[in-house]
Amino acid sequence: MDQKVPDLQKDQCYIDGTWVGTPSRAVVDPATGEQVGEVPNLGADETRAAIAAAETALKGWRALLASERAALLHRWYALQTEHVDELARLMTLEQGKPLDEARGEVLYGAGFTRLAAEQAGKILGETIPTHKADARIVVIKQPIGVVGAITPWNFPNAMITRKAGPALAAGCTMVLKPAGVTPLSALALAELADRAGIPKGVFNVVTGDAAPIGGELTGNPSVRMISFTGSTQVGKLLARQSADTVKRMALELGGNAPFIVFDDADLDAALDGLMASKFRNTGQTCVCANRIFVQSGVFDRFSEMLVERVATMPVGPGIEEGVAMGPLINDAAVEKVETHVRDAVEKGARVLAGGERHERGGRFYQPTVLTGAGPEMLLWNDETFGPVAPLIKFEDEAEVIDMANDTESGLAAYFYARDLGRVWRVAEALETGIVGVNEGIISTPNAPFGGIKESGLGREGSHHGIEEYIEMKYILMGGLDG
Ligand code: ADP
Repeated sequence: MDQKVPDLQKDQCYIDGTWVGTPSRAVVDPATGEQVGEVPNLGADETRAAIAAAETALKGWRALLASERAALLHRWYALQTEHVDELARLMTLEQGKPLDEARGEVLYGAGFTRLAAEQAGKILGETIPTHKADARIVVIKQPIGVVGAITPWNFPNAMITRKAGPALAAGCTMVLKPAGVTPLSALALAELADRAGIPKGVFNVVTGDAAPIGGELTGNPSVRMISFTGSTQVGKLLARQSADTVKRMALELGGNAPFIVFDDADLDAALDGLMASKFRNTGQTCVCANRIFVQSGVFDRFSEMLVERVATMPVGPGIEEGVAMGPLINDAAVEKVETHVRDAVEKGARVLAGGERHERGGRFYQPTVLTGAGPEMLLWNDETFGPVAPLIKFEDEAEVIDMANDTESGLAAYFYARDLGRVWRVAEALETGIVGVNEGIISTPNAPFGGIKESGLGREGSHHGIEEYIEMKYILMGGLDG
C-alpha cells in the first residue's frame, strides 16, 4: 500500500513563505516502525532566519484591518475542513491514533481557527474614568509580537491551531517547532496557510532537534512570547531559558487527573466517561484520567463493568477500520508504561485486566485495569501516559478530595455524582483548572483550557485564549483644556 499522502505531505520546512531544507529526518509510523516520510533537520541558524522573517512580516500583518486578518483565517479554516480526510490520514500515519479520532482532532483543531477568525474583530480597548479633569485614560490592545510556539506529538494538529489561530488573529506572527516525531501534520497546516493566502513570514515551521531550535526561540530577544504545550520538565526549562529576555510564557504542561465515581453516580455514564477519558489516544493526553477513585458502595460493580468493557476493546493500527486504540508513540512510552505497572504490582496492586504488551507486538500495549493503587506508587505521582487505569477505593468525600489534590499537577479532574450539594462542593474543592462533572471529555475550542499549580500558565480557547497574545497599552491623553 502506498502510504504517502502526496498532496499535503511536505518534506521541507516553511520559512518566509518558501519551502526550504533538505529532507533528512525520518518520520516513522508507530504502528509498524516503517518510515512514512522525511523532513529537514534545521538548527539555530535557520530558526534565527525564521524569527527574522516573522519580525519583518509583523509590521504588515499587525497593520492589516482585523477584518482582513479574519478573512484569511476563515479561508485557512475552510481549507482545514475541506481536507479533513487527508489531514487525518497523515496524522494517523505519523502518530498512530485511530482514523476517527484523527478526524475528530482535525475538526477540533479547525474549530480554533474558526474561533480565532471570529475574535479578530472583537479585541476591544477601553476608556477609564479619569483622575484629572483635563486628561483622559485610554487603553488600547496591541499584538505582543513574534511568538515562538513549541507543540507536542499527542495532538499534532490541534495544539498548533489553538496557538496559531489566536496569535494570528491578534496580529502576531509565529515561528513553530512541532514535535520531532509528528512534523507532517504541522507542515500540512503550513501548506494550507500558504494556499489560504496568509502572507509570507506570518506563520513559519521549523523542524529539527529540539534543543538548538528551542534555545534560539527562547534566547532571541525578537521573540516576545513562548507558547508551549508538553511536559512539565521541558516547560520549566523553557521558562528558565526565557527568563533573561523576560518573555511572556503560555504553558500547557502535564496533568495527573483524578477521576472520581461517587456512590450516587450513574455508573453507565461514568463508565463511558472513563473509557473516553482514559483510553482516548491510547492514554496519551495530559487530561487523561490517571488515578481513578471509586466509592466503596459501587467499587466492585464498577470495576467489573470496567474490566468487561476493556476486554472487548479492539486494539490495532489506527488506519484499520474499527480500531478503538492504537499503539503508543515510541519504545520509551511502552517502557514507561511497563515500569509503572511493574512498580505498582511490586507495591501491592493487582492486575484485573491486561498488564502486558499486546499480542500485536511493537508499540502496542494491552488496555489495563489495576486495583489497589496507592500514593507510594509511581503512577500516583507521575502521569503514566498510557492505557493503564489504576483503581483506588475510597469511603468519603473529604478523603477523596485530599487524595485527588495530593499532586503538584492541576490540569483536569473529573467526577460523577448526582447530589447537587456534593457537585458544587467537589467542583470547588478540586485543585485543577478544568473539572468535568458527569463528563469525560472536556476539550472544546469554546472553553478556556489550562492548568494551575505545576500544570501551567495561561488559558487556550474561548474568548480568553486570545488575551495571551495581546498587550495592553495605557495612554494618558493630557492637556485637553488648553
Ligand atoms: P513529551 O514527553 O510529550 O514528548 P516534551 O515536553 O518532551 O513532551 O515535548 C514537547 C515539545 O517540546 C516537543 O516539540 C519537543 O520536541 C519539545 N522539546 C523537548 N525538549 C526541548 C528543549 N530542550 N527545548 C525546546 N523544545 C523542546
